[in-house]
Amino acid sequence: MPPQGLLLIAASLPAGWKVRFIDENIRAATDEDFIWADAVFVSGMHIQRPQINDICRRAHQHDLAVALGGPSVSACPEYYPDFDYLHVGELGDATYELFRRLGRDSARPDRQVILTTKERRDMAAFPLPAYELLPLNKYFIGSIQFSSGCPYQCEFCDIPALYGRNPRLKSPEQVIAELDKMLECGLAGAVYFVDDNFIGNRKATLDLLPHLVEWQKRNGYAIQFACEATLNIAKRPEILSLMREAYFTTLFAGIETPDPDALKAMSKQHNMMVPILEGVRTLNSYGLEVVSGIILGLDTDKLDAGEGILEFIDQSQIPLLTINLLQALPRTPLYDRLKREGRLIEDSDRDSNVDFFLPYEHVVSTWRECMGRAYTPEKLFARFEHQVRETYPNRFQPPNSKQRLSWSNIKRGMTMLSNIIWHVGVKGDYRREFWKFAWPRLKTGDIERVISVGLVAHHLIVFARDASSGQQNASYYSTRLRDMPVAAE
Ligand code: SF4
Repeated sequence: MPPQGLLLIAASLPAGWKVRFIDENIRAATDEDFIWADAVFVSGMHIQRPQINDICRRAHQHDLAVALGGPSVSACPEYYPDFDYLHVGELGDATYELFRRLGRDSARPDRQVILTTKERRDMAAFPLPAYELLPLNKYFIGSIQFSSGCPYQCEFCDIPALYGRNPRLKSPEQVIAELDKMLECGLAGAVYFVDDNFIGNRKATLDLLPHLVEWQKRNGYAIQFACEATLNIAKRPEILSLMREAYFTTLFAGIETPDPDALKAMSKQHNMMVPILEGVRTLNSYGLEVVSGIILGLDTDKLDAGEGILEFIDQSQIPLLTINLLQALPRTPLYDRLKREGRLIEDSDRDSNVDFFLPYEHVVSTWRECMGRAYTPEKLFARFEHQVRETYPNRFQPPNSKQRLSWSNIKRGMTMLSNIIWHVGVKGDYRREFWKFAWPRLKTGDIERVISVGLVAHHLIVFARDASSGQQNASYYSTRLRDMPVAAE
């Protein structure tokens, strides 16, 4: 996904400042880039902490001032002692103060300067993110933000403390203008609403959706939408119908655990407003494939917690689940509680900073076993077969349009298809399972399905193999260093 936050900062820079925008997921910043620059702006999430610090080190080799903003530093400024400027919080007064200081003098200050936003810029006054600075056609999926914040207070989540409980909003017109711009800049495929909770303000969601429906009609359903929302969206048929019409096809829900006691303990009772499996089936009936977050290592977990998760995966037939170890993030009720209980362990050899009730090794081996068993090619393709039967036929069937059948889309699809067939169908060690799924689809011309399932399945199978053999961290927040591909100098 394109880095939204930094694109917004790029669009907010004073007129006349020239920007070279580098996403190191696409290419590493070179010496020539650093020589060209007067100052470097960096952003990232906790998972990227080693790379964030590495960019700072490289910039300092060129004696450049480096400013860091974004979600990780906003929650944990203490993670980044080497940066010249820390920008804590969202776009607002701190941002303009940073621009003023760098405009006056771009040299490195004598000591670290921390600027904290006290007055956030109203989201309705956000500029359009600077998508034109990126090769948008190189991204798997585009991203857009409609709202920020979430009314709930799940114990492990830092969203309410960082972004507030009363979601702030962009106007539908802003969202439409961003979508137009993304299309102009070459985005194809899908756009993900990165909002913490797409139904954080249900009335606003209902106001936005008809605009998305109209936009899709105007643009020949060029894009599929995805979003992140609480599972109680299953109780809102009026929202789900409009989402179907707007061609939403995927929804991430933080289901976390199928255990009601655990949901209560983490203050996530809203997941039980409908029985979880019924909620998943309801979403499927509107054509929405569910992606689920799952957490292991909860205080309520018993020795057989992994079996419960695997049973839930079989029952729900959700293909993609992000199974993760519990991590106590600063600025969460969980962090405060564990601190009081003396159960925080800062040890970079561990995958979590939580002193679990169960033995650490048991929790990590449960995670490895869940990953290994949930993502065997047989199990994974069977879950996708279930979606083919029970979910995809319920989707809005968009008409063939010149936007969907554009030459660039066909070329992109053919490139992806030939890569998948070569790497998985010819060279892959699970090609039998792949062809069992792909052949009937290819025969009926459903190439899109072969591409989308083939690509995601391959990533999951390879990732899960690494995970079950101990080559991946069990928590996406872990600071344990694996063989991280650090950008070339
Ligand atoms: S519902 Fe989601 S975004 Fe909201 S507090 Fe809970 S985990 Fe965080």
